[in-house]
Amino acid sequence: MHAIRCGDCGAPFSIRPDGLFQCDGDQAHELDSRDIDLDGSDTWAVDPAGTLVIVVDPAAATQWAREALAEYLEAEPESYAEWFDLGSFSNAVGALLDAARAGLPLSRLS
Ligand SMILES: [Zn+2]
Repeated sequence: MHAIRCGDCGAPFSIRPDGLFQCDGDQAHELDSRDIDLDGSDTWAVDPAGTLVIVVDPAAATQWAREALAEYLEAEPESYAEWFDLGSFSNAVGALLDAARAGLPLSRLS
């Protein structure tokens, strides 16, 4: 989870009562959520402090965790692959927790 920075001054954005975001820089640049354009499985959220952040979409993080755990369980014990897959699973769970802390619901089970 990291803050989305203002394209004009580099400051992070905070949410305002009217639902728009405003950067913390001196010029207080505005950002509408409709203008947020992210790549791949990233999505935006607002953390508990009110800062606009990028997190991995919970559905994508769930899939990532599932795949990493399956690979971990099949890896040869004490191998590099086992260590790598455990690290990947840990990162996926971290991404899920980041999304949950930012208030995004975990994806539904199918
Ligand atoms: Zn700015």
